Amino acid sequence: MGLVGSLLWREYPSKSGSAACLGKETMEMNQHVMPTYGRLPVSFVKGDGAYLVDAAGNKYLDALTGIAVCGLGHAHPEISQVISDQSQKLLHTSNLYDIPIQSKLAERLCKLSGMDNVFFCNSGAEANEAAIKIARLYGNQNSVKNPLILVAENSFHGRTMATLTATGSRKVQAGFEPLVSGFIRAPYNDIDAIKRIAQDNQNIVAVLLEPILGEGGIEIPSDDYLPALRTICDENDWLMMLDEVQTGNGRTGEFFAYQHFEIAPDIVTTAKGLGNGFPIGACIARGVAASIFQPGNHGSTFGGNPLACAAANAVLDIIEKDSICDHARKTGHLLVELMNAKLAGINRVKEIRGRGMMIAVELVDEAPDLVKKALAERLLINVTQGNIIRLLPPLNLAQSEAEELVNKLAKILLLTT
Ligand SMILES: *Cc1c(COP(=O)(O)O)cnc(C)c1O
Repeated sequence: MGLVGSLLWREYPSKSGSAACLGKETMEMNQHVMPTYGRLPVSFVKGDGAYLVDAAGNKYLDALTGIAVCGLGHAHPEISQVISDQSQKLLHTSNLYDIPIQSKLAERLCKLSGMDNVFFCNSGAEANEAAIKIARLYGNQNSVKNPLILVAENSFHGRTMATLTATGSRKVQAGFEPLVSGFIRAPYNDIDAIKRIAQDNQNIVAVLLEPILGEGGIEIPSDDYLPALRTICDENDWLMMLDEVQTGNGRTGEFFAYQHFEIAPDIVTTAKGLGNGFPIGACIARGVAASIFQPGNHGSTFGGNPLACAAANAVLDIIEKDSICDHARKTGHLLVELMNAKLAGINRVKEIRGRGMMIAVELVDEAPDLVKKALAERLLINVTQGNIIRLLPPLNLAQSEAEELVNKLAKILLLTT
């Protein structure tokens, strides 16, 4: 368990790569798009709540929502209206001026999270970059030589150089060496390992962790993990930094996943669901962490511009007005109940687990065809880690839609056994 930055992977991404598995049409259409994604042979022309519609008019139930982005469903009329109105008034000024709508969003996020202030950016990786920079500045200001940030195995924090280094995945890092120094890695959900690492490394200044591993397969740590981590951070003067890019904005049935516990982090980052599809990220800080950045330390041209903040304020309006967190918690329970009734008996289903609307169906075997089979049944799902079906449906899913989701899933799993 050494410095992440000292690891060198021999397996580089190969040149012939993933192009071979793409359909001919998809390849031709994307001739001028860098092939960073393997794309499914479908595209959508519009959305409506929990459904997406393709050019032929077929309706698909969306149990992925653009990877936890459109939590309030597609083409939400109130959000569309706000974006339309704001776009006719003002898109962008600059962070060189006061942006009242940004101040309002910051105040609301702080109220919802119990934190003190916010830096706005445009994505999850950027929100984590801001957190990493705060941790380093905090360390260097306290005369810690070569400050280290503790990160977890199997984690995902983004694709920029610092965040891919923080990410606990060989696939994400391979070929991009030299990685960024200043990270040290621990197994996830293992407090004793963190205590051992703390003893051997006096220069740790912060931890950066997901409260539930998202890309890592919806791994939910034991209930005492985050509280114990908070205690360790307090004892060692580490900043507790939680990456809630995926788990935030009501996804797990609380506004932030740490709110299931009686703890507060020093920094929480979020993005995905905050704009319901409009790009916006936020790095939210409390206490000492909130007073680290000073003018000139960090910035973003687009971060927190009036249009993005209008969209996010509309998202918060709906989350509050429609009790979306409660709804996500209840519908999440309902989904797991339905799945336990209809899927648990299927041989290849190993475990069904979730928090709110972040649900995994872990299979005993790899499921390379499942996403395509689901597509044929007009259901959009994701499979992560090869064998874990990841469901991130809209937070405001109706009961009938929850039933449709489980029925379709049952059919697909039975078809493929
Ligand atoms: C998606 C994700 C990110 C990266 O967000 P981008 O907007 O793609 O940069 C970071 N952390 C977690 C936990 C994520 O799920």
